[in-house]
Amino acid sequence: MELLKILSEKDIPEIYKNTPVGELVRYQNLKKEFETYQNAQILVGMCMDNRNQLILPGNFAYIIRTGGANLRYSEFKISYAIAIGGVKHIALIAHNNCGMVNLMSKKEKFIEGLCQNAGWERERAEEHFMNYAPMFEIDNEIEFTVEESRRLEKKYPLIKVTPLYYSLDDNMLSFII
Ligand SMILES: [Zn+2]
Repeated sequence: MELLKILSEKDIPEIYKNTPVGELVRYQNLKKEFETYQNAQILVGMCMDNRNQLILPGNFAYIIRTGGANLRYSEFKISYAIAIGGVKHIALIAHNNCGMVNLMSKKEKFIEGLCQNAGWERERAEEHFMNYAPMFEIDNEIEFTVEESRRLEKKYPLIKVTPLYYSLDDNMLSFII
């Protein structure tokens, strides 16, 4: 898999040019002037990480943010955006230096942080981490997002799901091809 960074209009693959995914990338990377939207055009799934910041006009997108852009536990919200919001496109956005990659290595820090910052007992914090970390840990952010996109396309066959990649270095989006 390769990253295709969009630096100008001509970089956008033909199949995305007339889609909300193309618009998403234009707003983020090409500083396109905001258009007015009456309805949501797209559902964006992205990481909760505070360093990820999308530049989007009002009404343009539903956004579900979770650790690692993992939507496995958000399916009712996806269904809602499709059924009620009428979106036909989903963009799933991976990013570099994601905290959900190699989560197990952060076990000690996590447990100590919960004890110190939230006032938890150590045993409870440890159990909490061990129960949930396997659900949210990912090996490789790009592969995970591509697989997750395929899974969602199978589950919602009329919806187009596009994996994208957000670089924290310049806040630009790339297609994953
Ligand atoms: Zn992340």
